Amino acid sequence: MEKGATIKHDPKKSPKTGEWRNVRPEVDPNKCTGCGMCVKYCPEDCIILKNRKNPSKFKKLAEINYDFCKGCGVCAAVCPFKAIKMKSEIK
Ligand code: SF4
Ligand code: SF4
Repeated sequence: MEKGATIKHDPKKSPKTGEWRNVRPEVDPNKCTGCGMCVKYCPEDCIILKNRKNPSKFKKLAEINYDFCKGCGVCAAVCPFKAIKMKSEIK
């Protein structure tokens, strides 16, 4: 079997997500530890770790760029702290 590969791309040059996305991930700041697992696995490279405004036990918090998020749910699946929930965007 061939090994998989990821093609490095510049997310800023990627097309923005259209209105077709029907679920979006939402990060629970009370559960996110800033571990960075979701950042590594997001296929769109659209999650960053930001410094918390009021750091308590954890200094970083995952932030999702919804302009590029496709709603695939990978981040929610890999988060070891169940800090991401997929929410419906259907109105
Ligand atoms: S994987 Fe979960 S806990 Fe880790 S940074 Fe992402 S949302 Fe936060
Ligand atoms: S739902 Fe998919 S594209 Fe959106 S932030 Fe999570 S892993 Fe990335």
